[in-house]
Amino acid sequence: MIEARDVTLSFGETPALRGANLRVAEGEILAIMGPSGSGKSTLLHCLAGILVPDSGEIHFAGQRVDTLNEGARSALRRDRFGFVFQFGQLVPELTAVENVALPLLLAGTRRRAAVAEASTWFGRLDLDGLQQRRSGELSGGQAQRVALARGLVARPQVLFADEPTGSLDSLTGEHVMDLMVGSAREQGTTVVVVTHEARVAAYADREVIVRDGKVTSLDAEPVLS
Ligand code: ATP
Ligand code: MG
Repeated sequence: MIEARDVTLSFGETPALRGANLRVAEGEILAIMGPSGSGKSTLLHCLAGILVPDSGEIHFAGQRVDTLNEGARSALRRDRFGFVFQFGQLVPELTAVENVALPLLLAGTRRRAAVAEASTWFGRLDLDGLQQRRSGELSGGQAQRVALARGLVARPQVLFADEPTGSLDSLTGEHVMDLMVGSAREQGTTVVVVTHEARVAAYADREVIVRDGKVTSLDAEPVLS
């Protein structure tokens, strides 16, 4: 479903990816592990159409992504992908429920329907009663669950998560992973999650390691659908 072929990318003189190859099957939950600075986030950003590689190819659902212009890539991200990052990145001016509703509003859903749909996630993710809080008034674990709801609310084909449990204690992190994997499986969302924690990777169907800008597979490649 998603594929990186021989992807290279440098930031100035610093090579971040040096010929990375990766295939992700539809419905798969894939963990990307590896040391700090090895290129995990850069690879995730290339797969998600946020960064464009210097060379190599990115494919999604039979379509070449890296050759699309910025407008088409941003439409792809909006229509097909969801995102969860390490520090939640909630919009502080908005309430929790408005944050969750954002992807729906961007996709053209009317406000009332978007907020109603967003609200259903609060019960599902143990966030009852927190709809009107602003991000500064949430605990780290609560904010991360709000960010997760925002990543999943538009039922994306792929959820890209970069250290989604990075700022949480281990029990809260496991709770967030449980919810992320459970919700993704329920709605058939493919998940690509970057993590440095083996405990978190254990939730995935498969894990790969990024080292010096290249991908090493531990398990057999999936049969691509
Ligand atoms: P971590 O586990 O610490 O998040 P990572 O595996 O995600 O690390 P990347 O963020 O992909 O690593 O970075 C890969 C390399 O590219 C590193 O050497 C990093 O310093 C460099 N790099 C990443 N982003 C930038 C940037 N915006 N400008 C310059 N160099 C960058
Ligand atoms: Mg990173």
